[in-house]
Amino acid sequence: MIRCERPDQARAWCAAGRDEGRTIGFVPTMGALHEGHLALVARARAENDLVVASVFVNPLQFGERDDFERYPRDFEGDARSLASVGCDLAFTGTLADFFPAEVGADGRFEPRALRAPGPAARGLEGDLRPGHFAGVATIVARLFEIVRPTRSYFGHKDYQQTLVVAELARELGYPEVVVCPTLRDPDGLAMSSRNRRLSADDRPRALVLSRALRAARDLWQRGERDPARLAERMREVAGDRGVELEYAALRDPERWTPGEPRGPLERAVALVAARVGPVRLIDNLRLDGPEGLS
Ligand code: AMP
Repeated sequence: MIRCERPDQARAWCAAGRDEGRTIGFVPTMGALHEGHLALVARARAENDLVVASVFVNPLQFGERDDFERYPRDFEGDARSLASVGCDLAFTGTLADFFPAEVGADGRFEPRALRAPGPAARGLEGDLRPGHFAGVATIVARLFEIVRPTRSYFGHKDYQQTLVVAELARELGYPEVVVCPTLRDPDGLAMSSRNRRLSADDRPRALVLSRALRAARDLWQRGERDPARLAERMREVAGDRGVELEYAALRDPERWTPGEPRGPLERAVALVAARVGPVRLIDNLRLDGPEGLS
């Protein structure tokens, strides 16, 4: 596997691959990789001639300085993991490398250069993390421009993000956006780089997220279609000491609305966000689909 410390080197390598007529599968990440990330790479490996991954903790998408600074970083370990699943090129860089024209001499990103995300950025994560999806759209557009992938792979775990990225890809005219299932630990906890920061006491508490989603799915399977009642059930299950629930919500997965949809749902995705100790976690589950918690 080739490792590039500078996005420009990755840009040249990808351009050469495209000139030879090869398809490129791309997996953007913030590193501290786990099996969920590697499953995206494996899927990209199976569907493309070349596989490229980026590892960059994007400061533009963090509201809380603390969360950004404490975000785990391990490019060496990540490069080894990526190589082990057949990635061809892994690249990283600094904010100034990615945005040479937008970052000033003082290291500050010019706020006017932020990209406005589409309508899927409204509600839930968009409300609780102001500016988050603008940061995501800005870096993802730049990464797409560097790699110019045929397909790009994202996890269902960040459901609202997949919608924001799909809107961006439609606007740009490329790439195809492939959404992959959420990988979980055996007890149901969705894998996340942030799980590394859970204390031994908090780790079991974090199970309230998947437990709440499972409760919503059970109710759905018994015929409940009212979003308010499904959300209420999640809130009952998620009430636990040491866990601060930020939201437990329902959406029509195919018609994103900023607020809870009204009336009986035909399709549903249940979404939760909670602070477990100092760590903010999110998870979601399609209630009507094949993707589920075993
Ligand atoms: P991140 O490094 O957290 O920005 O994640 C990079 C990509 O991996 C995103 O598309 C995430 O949705 C995806 N991802 C994160 N966690 C998981 C998981 N548990 N299962 C599958 N994909 C995931």
